[in-house]
Amino acid sequence: MARSRSPIIPAKTKPSPLNEATVQPLLIREVSAIAVSVPLTKPVLMGGGQRFDRSESLIVRIEAHNGLVGWGEASAAPSMTGENLAGMVYAVKHYLAPRLMGKNGLDLPYQILTMGQGLIGNQGAKAACDIALHDLVGQYLQVPVVQLLGGKARESVLTQYQLGNPNIEQDIAEARHSWKKGYRFFKLKVGVKSVEQEILAAHKIRKALGPDALLCADANMGLSSAHAHAYVQGVASCGLMFLEQPFGDEDIEKMAELGRSSPVDLCADESIHGINNIFECHKAGPIKGVNLKTIKLGGLIQTQRAAIISDGLGLCVDLASKTGESSIAVAALTHLAYAIPNLHWGLNINNHYLQTDLVDNPLQQVNASVACPTGPGLGVRVNEKLIRAFTIIPH
Ligand SMILES: [Mg+2]
Repeated sequence: MARSRSPIIPAKTKPSPLNEATVQPLLIREVSAIAVSVPLTKPVLMGGGQRFDRSESLIVRIEAHNGLVGWGEASAAPSMTGENLAGMVYAVKHYLAPRLMGKNGLDLPYQILTMGQGLIGNQGAKAACDIALHDLVGQYLQVPVVQLLGGKARESVLTQYQLGNPNIEQDIAEARHSWKKGYRFFKLKVGVKSVEQEILAAHKIRKALGPDALLCADANMGLSSAHAHAYVQGVASCGLMFLEQPFGDEDIEKMAELGRSSPVDLCADESIHGINNIFECHKAGPIKGVNLKTIKLGGLIQTQRAAIISDGLGLCVDLASKTGESSIAVAALTHLAYAIPNLHWGLNINNHYLQTDLVDNPLQQVNASVACPTGPGLGVRVNEKLIRAFTIIPH
């Protein structure tokens, strides 16, 4: 889509009480919530019997009164955030958008805080609005979103490649193919096969890729206590960096108990719905890191705060998009990955699973990394024709 190159400053606008300096206000005149469903290139299997054939996302479009448009995205992830697509659209239309209308987008933290005050939870819907506001403000100020987040803290980021197939042979074939394409860090989705098969898969993938490959595993809450103990002992010699979320989101004591004897470090993902949960997991016991997503924390600002707090607590951070989020959400997460203090466990982005990305310049992983987009805002050119083509009415 065409975007205004330079901000057109309206003749008569009142300065915001929070921002009386030289930059003219950026008043919001329209907020739209759009539901899209995009097919994946292949089904993705995860623990607990989860299977994904399509990516269902909320797209938020925020237009300022000077014509600039910012875009945001959040996947519907009922098993992770409790939100479905219809509810996310409703939350934006009836709760979040009315609180943004007419406000000055330049007061980003203030607008994001007040936007969410009338609505508990709904972190995905809030995240899509937060990302769209960052895109809008970045374009207006002609800076990439990473600058709005404080600037770069690193020169490159390490990306993960996710493996989730029904059988070991497919996992190995995909791992080898991805290794040739430059990937070096692999996340094994476990809890899909029997625990014996999962242990065997870790050994075979390690053998196929060699000692230089970085490996981790993610159970997406799909293991029993007995299977989790068997898994961590069975893969002890495979050099896994961590096992993510073996049990249900509220089973923090169970995870801590596993951590006390596990030769593999543990990471909390579905257990983190907000910053308080990070303190809770840290206090419970030997958990070495957290998986942070904008859809769980409510956007870039809160995810950045969560990363800073995790760093202060000595926890590693695994920053991740939801499977199938397009380059809109992935660009936002990549800017954040470059800005946060601690990214020891890398960045997991999955826009390559989409049959069709929603931008004209999709983010691409090259040699186990992804470049930080350099254009103003998110730095991606959203294709409105494609968004219209994949729009659905959610039920
Ligand atoms: Mg996970």
